[in-house]
Amino acid sequence: MIVHMFVADDISPAHEVETGTDSPVADVVPSPTVSTSARSYSWFTASWRFEVAATPANAVGRVRDVLNHLTADLAHLTRASDLSAILAQLELITRSVEAATVKVLARTEQADAFRDDGHGTLTGWARSIVKWSPSEASARSRTASAALAHPELVRRLDAGTLGVAQVRRLATLHANRRVRDELPIVVHTLADIAGALPYEDFNTAVLRWEQLADADGAHRHADVVHDSRDASVHPVGDTVYLDAHVGTAQGALIHEVFERYVEAELRHDIEVRDAAGLTTVSDLRRTAAQRRADALHAIFCSAAVGSSPAPEPVVNILIDADTYEAALVAMHNDERLPSLARRPDDIHRRRCETTSGLMLDPIDVATASLLGHVRRVVVSADGTVIDLGRKSRLFTGAAREAVWLRRRRCVWPSCSRLHCEVDHRIPWSEGGRTSPDNGDPLCAKHNRWKTRGYRTHMNPRTKAIEVTRPDGSTISPV
Ligand SMILES: [Zn+2]
Repeated sequence: MIVHMFVADDISPAHEVETGTDSPVADVVPSPTVSTSARSYSWFTASWRFEVAATPANAVGRVRDVLNHLTADLAHLTRASDLSAILAQLELITRSVEAATVKVLARTEQADAFRDDGHGTLTGWARSIVKWSPSEASARSRTASAALAHPELVRRLDAGTLGVAQVRRLATLHANRRVRDELPIVVHTLADIAGALPYEDFNTAVLRWEQLADADGAHRHADVVHDSRDASVHPVGDTVYLDAHVGTAQGALIHEVFERYVEAELRHDIEVRDAAGLTTVSDLRRTAAQRRADALHAIFCSAAVGSSPAPEPVVNILIDADTYEAALVAMHNDERLPSLARRPDDIHRRRCETTSGLMLDPIDVATASLLGHVRRVVVSADGTVIDLGRKSRLFTGAAREAVWLRRRRCVWPSCSRLHCEVDHRIPWSEGGRTSPDNGDPLCAKHNRWKTRGYRTHMNPRTKAIEVTRPDGSTISPV
């Protein structure tokens, strides 16, 4: 294989070349001759000929041996903790393989080598060699571009502290030209979050940052979406279709009301099921899709009979003081919103969203506050809702809402149900306080699982909520 490289004149090519193969052989002397006299940033072209690792088939065979060894005893394993240890090992191997793949793509892009075979893009070149789907190829090409700008990402992927989906999500930030220049400020923080939190929470953090970094773009986009709002109800044959799209300013309320009606339908199904002495999800008499449709129907029924609307306030919005002030200043001066992501900790400090995680335009929120449609909630500097100090054994009223304002979904790993009870992290019987910093949302099912000897606790390093099995092992996703 011929490798064309561009090398800065003060670097010795013979020692700096990384090939990624076992034993590269540089058997062709660089040409033309190196000129090292001036420390200018002139570039020259050199060509090397490498032999690709002599026995790639053996390399694949060795990896297969490792995988077969890992899964050899599967037939005898029955415990989740044993099986999950194997799954975690396989995931770490997958991440290393992905890191190596990205390195090859990044090198191909950097060297412009994809053009050798007549391809115009890295993606096309890769797909001519491997039958990746267009989306797989694009995701990997994006990751390769991001890796050239942020080598840290591939290092973390290879070390196993960053997942494949997470690194691809971060690569989409690098691909977004409107926020690319500000990414270096926050890329380490986002990578830390990716390593510590479930994917959904990490993705929320990424969306949040993207909106902060391009606050003006997000605001103008919100205006465009609002201007193009549309709704229709049209019968076709034996089916009636509802189709609507609105901006987040209206959508936040619609979303919240809809979720409440869906929750009411679910509670009804659970009551009916429990009354019949049944326990599993499949015993519920309607599917989730059917309940959503019935919830929408119920909203229209309420409108038809003119029943009073839900008590105010309907939507809880979290906004930090700095973002609120920036929005007010921009409105007052009729200026563009500046970037709100100038510091690495802005991603933790800044909030402008509903408690169910719907990101809102700060200008919309500031406008609503001037119209008096907002209830204020005080949040401490680290993002938790300030302890309301109510002394009680059960999380009710304001204390329960304070926990929900911090986190709405069930904290059990991979469960993300929205309909939750608030559970004491340190049990009440062991002196745990009924305050928001000792409460976590758990769905009804997982609240019951805690009585089987499972415990929840906060990882002091990552601040993520982890669940410990009765045997003491932790359900902690890699
Ligand atoms: Zn749950």
